[in-house]
Order: sequence, then C-alpha cells, then structure tokens
Amino acid sequence: MRLGFIGLGIMGRPMAKHLMDAGHTLTVWNRSWPGIDALVEVGAEEGASAADVAGRSEVVFTMVGDSPDVEAVALGSQGIIEGTEAGLVHIDMSTISPVVTRAIAARYAEKGVEMLDAPVSGGEGGAVNATLSIMVGGKPEVFERCQPLFEALGKTVTYCGPSGSGQTVKLCNQVAVSVTNMAVCEALVLAKKAGVAPGTMLEAISGGAAASWQLLNLAPKMLAGDFRPGFKVWHQQKDLRLALEVAREAALPLPGTALVSQLYASLEAEGLGEEGTQALVKSLEKLGNVRVGD
Ligand code: NAP
Repeated sequence: MRLGFIGLGIMGRPMAKHLMDAGHTLTVWNRSWPGIDALVEVGAEEGASAADVAGRSEVVFTMVGDSPDVEAVALGSQGIIEGTEAGLVHIDMSTISPVVTRAIAARYAEKGVEMLDAPVSGGEGGAVNATLSIMVGGKPEVFERCQPLFEALGKTVTYCGPSGSGQTVKLCNQVAVSVTNMAVCEALVLAKKAGVAPGTMLEAISGGAAASWQLLNLAPKMLAGDFRPGFKVWHQQKDLRLALEVAREAALPLPGTALVSQLYASLEAEGLGEEGTQALVKSLEKLGNVRVGD
C-alpha cells in the first residue's frame, strides 16, 4: 500500500521502519529534520507537509504528542484534511483525548475520510521490536481493512469499539502503568531505608506476585541512575491529565492516579519533564531523604 507517516520521534521512527519492512511504500513528514533524515536514509520518500503526505497515501499514520498536535496535523493549515479526497484512512497512534478524537473523526466524516484511534502500549522497546499492544477505536470495517498494517507493528491488536474507544482503553492502561510505577518506587525506597540492598530486593521479588513491566524494565534503570527517556515524564503527565478529565466527567474518583500525577508534577517543577518515567523514583527519594542507587 501507499502509506504516510507523520511524527518521527522515539516511537514513530521504528514504527515507520516496520511498515517499510512489510513491503509498503512510505512517505514521511516530521516537524524537524532529524526524524525525516533517519527514514529517508533507509528508503522513505520525503513529504513537504502533512497535506502532501496525505495526497500521496491511502493510509496515513500519526504518532505526535498531545491532542492539539493531532488537531494541527489533521485539520490545521497544510494538514491532512487539506491534502486528500474521500477514501483516505487516518490512523492516529498518539495518545490523546477521546473527546478530541471523536471531534476530528466527525470533521473527517464530512469529507469521506475515515479515522481510527489506535494508541499503543509497550514503550520504545515495543516499537523497536514490533511487539506493541494496540487498542483500536473506529468503524469495525475500517479496522478489519487495516488489521494487516497493525500486525506489522504489534503483537496484541484489540478492537475496542467506536471512535474514541481505543483512546479510552489507553487511558485505563496509563492509570495501571503509572500507579504500578509508584508502587515500584515505594518498594525501592523502603528496601533502602530499612537496610536491604534494593538490587537484592528486586532479585527476590521479580519472579513472584509483585512482578510487573515496571518492576522488570524501569526499576533496574532507577538503580543504575539511567533517566534517559523511553517514555517522557511530560507525556505521562499528559496521559494522567486526560484520564483525570474523563474520570471527572464521569464523577469517578481515581485517588491513586491523582497522587501519582502530583508526584510527577514535582519532577516537572524541577525541570525534569524530558526525563523518562523511571525518574519518578527521584520524587520518592526526595520525600524520604534517601537514595536508592549507588
Ligand atoms: P517524541 O519522541 O516527543 O516524538 C513526537 C514526534 O511528534 C516528534 O517527531 C515531534 O516533532 C512530532 N510532533 C509533536 N507535535 C507536533 C506538531 N504539532 N506538529 C508536527 N509534529 C509534531 O514522542 P514519543 O515518545 O515518540 O511519543 C509519541 C506519542 O506516543 C505520544 O502521544 C505518546 O504519549 C505516545 N506513546 C509513547 C510511548 C513511549 O514509550 N515513548 C509509549 C506509548 C505511547 P519534533 O521532532 O519536531 O519535536
């Protein structure tokens, strides 16, 4: 197929590459050059704008940042909607608001453009290894047509329901992910403060009921003092804000989510928004006056 890919950051770059490896023709566009250069070097065509990418493609993927970014790329000047006729499918894999997703899909519908929301879980490693979990919202027949494309990117692809449902499920994922991350940080500071080497504690509990993606992947980075981003703090905060907005609309308290969002806010206050989410341990270390690493 003729595919387009917009948003070539940590996640978008490897995902775009997998689509090329699956035999599709790819036109790419990114706001800054490094993303474009990396894909053109391995055979992608360079688009002049999001509209230009849309004009050359049957299906366009986006993997940008927040809701306003998807709105700008989809509906803004030189956006997807300006470059295409009826029949295009826009698959947005960014994590954004379900409400904004539905609004964009409604604007597209006036022009005969289809949209799927297909946010992902699995982190940078999942993108690099094509093992992402993908949660999809939109029309079921459009999902079925695009399923082979999803299979090039992930290993668990779930159709969740009408437009916005993929984003809603992704927010549930983020609630589970971030509260678990906080629990991992608390276990590390407790071990250190109570006189057990945090590394020994990790080794002891990793095979038992406490095992989680966060424990296995993020805790070793916390101990090693490696705070380079797989998933950035400010992106996590965006997702928690979206989850708390949906919960507020539903008059639903999410106490753990609210608490972990406040701890992440302390990192943002220190200018650490570009660090990876494992930096959450710094907030707990500060509260407890303890350091878990060497
Ligand atoms: P990233 O490294 O910051 O990449 C984002 C990309 O989007 C960059 O190439 C950026 O362009 C582009 N972009 C942002 N706003 C734009 C705009 N208004 N117009 C045009 N391009 C724009 O972020 P990422 O980690 O790949 O995350 C992308 C999305 O995936 C986010 O929604 C995030 O929540 C979600 N996600 C990330 C992970 C993860 O582990 N990283 C996991 C699951 C989901 P520039 O290069 O010019 O900045």
